[in-house]
Amino acid sequence: MAHLASDRRDQAVRAALEQGLLTEADPVVALLDIAGVRASAAALRTAFEEITDAPVLHAFAVKAAPLVPVLRLLDSEGVGAEVASPGELALALAAGVRPERIVLDSPAKTRAELTGALDLGIAVNADNLQELDRIDALVGSGAGRASGPGGSQLGLRVNAQVGAGAIGALSTATATSKFGVALRDEGARERVVRAYLDRPWLTRLHTHSGSQGLGLELMTQGVRAVYELAEEINAAAGRQQIDTVDIGGGLPVNFASDEETPTFADYARALRDTVPALFDGRYGLVTEFGRSLLAKHGTVLTRVEYTKTTGGRPIAVTHAGVQVATRTVYDPASWPLRIVAYDAKGAPRTGDDVVQDVAGPACFAGDLLAEARALPLLEPGDVIAALDTGAYYFSSHYAYNSLARPGIHGFHADPGGVRFATVRAPQTIAGIVAEAGGDRPDALL
Ligand SMILES: *Cc1c(COP(=O)(O)O)cnc(C)c1O
Repeated sequence: MAHLASDRRDQAVRAALEQGLLTEADPVVALLDIAGVRASAAALRTAFEEITDAPVLHAFAVKAAPLVPVLRLLDSEGVGAEVASPGELALALAAGVRPERIVLDSPAKTRAELTGALDLGIAVNADNLQELDRIDALVGSGAGRASGPGGSQLGLRVNAQVGAGAIGALSTATATSKFGVALRDEGARERVVRAYLDRPWLTRLHTHSGSQGLGLELMTQGVRAVYELAEEINAAAGRQQIDTVDIGGGLPVNFASDEETPTFADYARALRDTVPALFDGRYGLVTEFGRSLLAKHGTVLTRVEYTKTTGGRPIAVTHAGVQVATRTVYDPASWPLRIVAYDAKGAPRTGDDVVQDVAGPACFAGDLLAEARALPLLEPGDVIAALDTGAYYFSSHYAYNSLARPGIHGFHADPGGVRFATVRAPQTIAGIVAEAGGDRPDALL
């Protein structure tokens, strides 16, 4: 790439202000670095090409950025889609992702969703043995083209129960996690092996050990446990029934600096070192990364509306809070975000650091983007940027206080200038009213 991500970001902030993207009507705007997204997708592909010659399907976890143009951009970079709801599936299809590059993983699929998935020929990972029974009925009744050539590839999600990471709510491999079949529970392993032997069309094994907060060690242990189970099932079947292992996503993101650590290459090498036989060519692979593909490439921009000092603490009141940074506001210890200060024209603010709060606009006291943060003392009209918000932040709007969904603009920052492309238009006030039953005001009279 021509220049550093942080330089591209500064250039895009200046251009966004020059080009009038941040206005009184639209006081929050989200920017997405297209070159950065492409670079992460390329890094992911290369990382796995370097450890295996087997076919690898990289499926982006749509929940991390449920935006059709983003899914299409990733698809153009060879990254398909992992979906977990009818809405996410529709987004992937609208983006033109081909069915053979889509994986459906939700823990609560209805019969209709399963039937639709098999009709489309997308891959499905069952969450539990009850769901396998439902799929039996569909396979038996000939719905779809299950597991035939061009048909759905079917798998089962297991939980290796390797333990929790630093963020409980995101740890999917705990002893009591709601996801998958827990392998260490009494009799569970035998039941899983039997489930495969009874179903010759069940050819995949899936796990996702957790997301942000999990170390590579725990992640690779989870993959090793699943590889060992695949080998056990194939030995019991007397053939290579399981031909593909889906290792999930969950690579943690560094929210503390511009450095991207750990890298996809770090994780791929750790996997190869821990479970070399999984990469010897006998098994196809599926990955489902979300946060690590997008987070570093998103920036939320907003203007400082007012400043005050309360109880000795300077506070800058901005328009970006819980509606775009829900996790950070409700659980700031787990999800701190870096904040960068710019002046009204987008030049980095200078001045001595002063400990201050950066508040959002919502009507509850906890709506703080950053608490006790050292920054040049903010003034009305300054602009602040919340960094690393490309995954799970501005794309997962929270409608508290009827605050509008911000517009999202992809950008190309070239030495010659910055070009923006709108990914999602800002929600209008009329739109907020319409989505709130505005077309039926008398409904309850
Ligand atoms: C959320 C999720 C992912 C993606 O997790 P990231 O931490 O964003 O990489 C992958 N697979 C499944 C099943 C998920 O639920």
